[in-house]
Amino acid sequence: AVERSARAARLESLGQLAGGVAHDFNNLLAIILNYADFLADEVTGDGAADLSRIRDAADRARVLTEQLLLFAKREPTQVEVVDLNEAVKRSGELLTRTIGADVRLVCRPCGAAVPVYANRGRLDQILLNLVINARDAMPDGGVVVVETGLTEIRGVSAVPLPPGRYARLTVSDTGTGMSAEVRDRLFEPFFTTKPADRGTGLGLSTVYGIVGDAGGHISVDSVPGVGTTFRILLPYAAGRAVGTGHRPVQAGPGGD
Ligand code: ADP
Repeated sequence: AVERSARAARLESLGQLAGGVAHDFNNLLAIILNYADFLADEVTGDGAADLSRIRDAADRARVLTEQLLLFAKREPTQVEVVDLNEAVKRSGELLTRTIGADVRLVCRPCGAAVPVYANRGRLDQILLNLVINARDAMPDGGVVVVETGLTEIRGVSAVPLPPGRYARLTVSDTGTGMSAEVRDRLFEPFFTTKPADRGTGLGLSTVYGIVGDAGGHISVDSVPGVGTTFRILLPYAAGRAVGTGHRPVQAGPGGD
């Protein structure tokens, strides 16, 4: 438990540091983009092509800093009762298109509603990040399985969550898996093993922040050469109708 909280504290301070830098950076990027726009009206020929390269690079940097701000800021978002299975189904088409023909997306069970306290948009973001990582880990194709269910946390548990009932979302792949070194660092902002034009190292730190804000927990199981499973627990909204009740971000999941 000590090790876990030291790790959480390290991620927290990294997030604050990165958030401060990202904020200042975003302001500077806005200036660069503004002046690039002014110039675009005046410059022609080769200059215009160069200028558009500057603009594209600054635009990419802006997307990056925005992602980083999302991880660092912990802005309270609207948390409501959403159906986890609905979210998986709704994202299914986009996810299938994103991951291409080599990868199969299996959603199960997709029947009854699994109400959780979460933010709809951020739930989509979690799914997208995890599925894109799964695809990247399977250069020769494979299977991604997205699964939902319920998990009971009792008094003594390896998971640092209050006892109660949680909704479970797992995303598994049959990809490369990862070494213990990578597993230890994968939630750190900017930690990536991908080439610079592919990875930002912000996907999982963002997911980590979103899950923590929702009062949930994320863990990973990975075997090199076999595959990886990410498991997310979110507070289960027992008996609540989807789209109704609101819950303060900081509150515990409740025991009902
Ligand atoms: P990025 O995808 O931009 O590298 P992430 O924070 O999403 O950033 O992931 C960090 C690193 O964690 C990846 O570079 C990769 O090494 C590792 N990783 C994440 N998901 C998986 C996965 N499903 N299988 C194997 N490695 C993974």
